[in-house]
Amino acid sequence: MVNTAYEPVIGLEIHAQLLTATKIFCGCSTRFGADPNMQVCPVCLGLPGALPVLNRRAVEFAIRASHALGCSVHPRSVFARKNYFYPDLPKGYQISQYERPLATGGALEYDGASGPRRVRITRLHMEEDAGKSLHEGFPDSDRFTYVDFNRSGVPLIEIVTEPDLRSPADAAEFFSRLRAILVSIGVNDGNMEEGSLRCDANVSVRPVGTDTLGVKTEVKNLNSFRYVQRALEYEIERQSEVLQKGGTIEQETRLWDTASGRTFTMRGKEEAHDYRYFPEPDLAPLELEPAWIDEIRQTLPELPDARRRRFVEQYAIPDYDARILTQSAALASYFEATAAEYKNPKAASNWIMGELTRKMNEDGTDITEVPLTAERLAGLIRLVDSGTISGPIAKEVFEKMYASGGSAAEIVEREGLARIDDRAAVEAAVRAVLDANAGPVAQYRAGKQQTFGFLVGQAMKAMKGKANPALVSDMLKKMLDS
Ligand SMILES: [Zn+2]
Repeated sequence: MVNTAYEPVIGLEIHAQLLTATKIFCGCSTRFGADPNMQVCPVCLGLPGALPVLNRRAVEFAIRASHALGCSVHPRSVFARKNYFYPDLPKGYQISQYERPLATGGALEYDGASGPRRVRITRLHMEEDAGKSLHEGFPDSDRFTYVDFNRSGVPLIEIVTEPDLRSPADAAEFFSRLRAILVSIGVNDGNMEEGSLRCDANVSVRPVGTDTLGVKTEVKNLNSFRYVQRALEYEIERQSEVLQKGGTIEQETRLWDTASGRTFTMRGKEEAHDYRYFPEPDLAPLELEPAWIDEIRQTLPELPDARRRRFVEQYAIPDYDARILTQSAALASYFEATAAEYKNPKAASNWIMGELTRKMNEDGTDITEVPLTAERLAGLIRLVDSGTISGPIAKEVFEKMYASGGSAAEIVEREGLARIDDRAAVEAAVRAVLDANAGPVAQYRAGKQQTFGFLVGQAMKAMKGKANPALVSDMLKKMLDS
């Protein structure tokens, strides 16, 4: 049940790991999935005397993301120490940007499900990821927590929005748009299951028709669009009920529990001063050449929303298709390669969204790994359009192409799947069908038109789907009416 007396106000904080080969302040690998504590050194273990050295590639990626989100990139930003104790944070502080972030004042504009949307980006700053506490998976996990420092020092950007989101669906949609952008510009892999993209949601509710902000809670570490939506739905309902009963909302940090579908209190919300931020003495302020900032802007690829609009215009495909095709840059490029090879973009879109996506889902692969090249898919569409093969046969050929990597023309030739236009062959098949179906033939002649479709079906079946359907229909009509 949705409480309609209150409306939610939502802002997101998104943490995205940058796709650098090495960590932000040392040369350790960032590769996911290594054995625990195999990608560590004195710097990312926080050993005394170890000094951080900033990774230039991480800065470049953070600037790239800032540009893509329309932020102003500041020529001078400052790293600070955010002090807190946690077992996965060996230094006792996290190096992050605080008072002087890398970039501020952006916005993401897009055509949302409920109309045009503009979500302001407050800031984008750089920081290091913490290690990972492992609470389960070991024989003695009931007594011990293990720590893996491979993630310690992986570069992150944190993107903070203004409280511009107005519903759980709105928030989930924004998060998915943001993910598409970060992936398309090559700074993040979008892998939420591995935690390379995570979201904290701030939410408060207020009586409908008022514009003051209520007390907010923060739900931490949501790692799927669905969890963002469900956690917010739960939290909005919970807060509304508390207020309805005359209670007050505590400012706090909460955790989402997937199993029970509830949020619960993790800790009271800390204030900035709890962290005793101060400028990091081991790193000079980050001074950036304006020319370099500009150079990075020039290398930005076309963003998903712009690409979607271009697809509608250039290829005359429906917006729905363009939206799906531009969800991943690789998929969009595959479509463009197919449409460039043979000019029937709508057919290319149908095959990619239909059969190809179905096969990828079945195999758990993505478009960069499919055995079927764009050129070959275009070849299949060409055979359908030229009338060489029928629709149902095309699906069969598609399966074979996908399995073998061969070309459509080769498969059609080898397996004798080309459409049969031979009048004598079709005539013989139609005559056999008429002889074998005296009943329906008599019904048709008595005026029951529906049996015509049945007879066409029988003739097509007799010719294993390969006959030219127009020819079958023509010939059948002639024979029945004669
Ligand atoms: Zn290291």
